[in-house]
Amino acid sequence: MRPKQFKLVHLVIFLCLSVFAFSTYSSASQKDGLLKVYFLDVGQGDAIFVEAPNGNQVLIDGGPDNAVIQKLGEVMPFYDKDIDMVVLTHSDADHVTGLIGVLERYEVENIVYSNIVRKSALYGAWQEAVEKEGASILDPVAGKIIDLGSGVTLSIIHPGGSLTGQAMEKTNNESVVLMLKYGQTTVLLTGDIEAKTERQIILSGADLDADILKVAHHGSKTSTIGEFLYGVSPQVAVIQVGTKNRYGHPVPEVLKRLEDYGIRYYRTDTDGNVKVVSDGQNYQILIAK
Ligand SMILES: [Zn+2]
Repeated sequence: MRPKQFKLVHLVIFLCLSVFAFSTYSSASQKDGLLKVYFLDVGQGDAIFVEAPNGNQVLIDGGPDNAVIQKLGEVMPFYDKDIDMVVLTHSDADHVTGLIGVLERYEVENIVYSNIVRKSALYGAWQEAVEKEGASILDPVAGKIIDLGSGVTLSIIHPGGSLTGQAMEKTNNESVVLMLKYGQTTVLLTGDIEAKTERQIILSGADLDADILKVAHHGSKTSTIGEFLYGVSPQVAVIQVGTKNRYGHPVPEVLKRLEDYGIRYYRTDTDGNVKVVSDGQNYQILIAK
């Protein structure tokens, strides 16, 4: 009996410590039992801000410029200068640029990104900002689960293995794909993955079923294949895209596919910020121009 009891106590202490560790650096918590996910309108690029019910905050990508700083000011209290976790899905300009400014202005505790080798000056600036920040670095590999506390988890779906030290200039298909979960509510975040990776993820056997899908690669024709939509079977899709962008995103074929699958979609160019609020049972979509 005795060793078993000891083990149990040990486990409880460990859990208390980890919960405590996370809750200490959340100054801006509005503890209302709600998960909030903001798909910020930052023009042609992605920036997604998550606040767990315990106040823990995660920013996934930063958009193409410093517009994200103003957007964060709208969803975070003015005195809050800490972000618990920043995730860079991949290092293209429309995802990484704003994050560099975020690292300069905010105290970031944890950074999740694939430490690849890429020649671009922008990526060099990101690496420099990461080094300066001194945050804990987490290498994203499928199967890892990040516990945000209060029942919210972020599971890494892709990449399948570590990309640390690998040289590559095209990184869309290496985007970090995440499943955010709070009770019954699930949100799949896909970065800029293309058809090839969508197929690979389906074949991996990962549980992709989600209520809300962040459409990959801004609704480009390279992505959002029917099999992927079938596997995820979302009720709602969100497209992060800039007004009159030069790529023609989102393409009509993708919009038609979403309609054919009966998926209601929102887009940041016409709807502005798209906010998802969940109590773990039900979710609500709110748009604010
Ligand atoms: Zn992009």
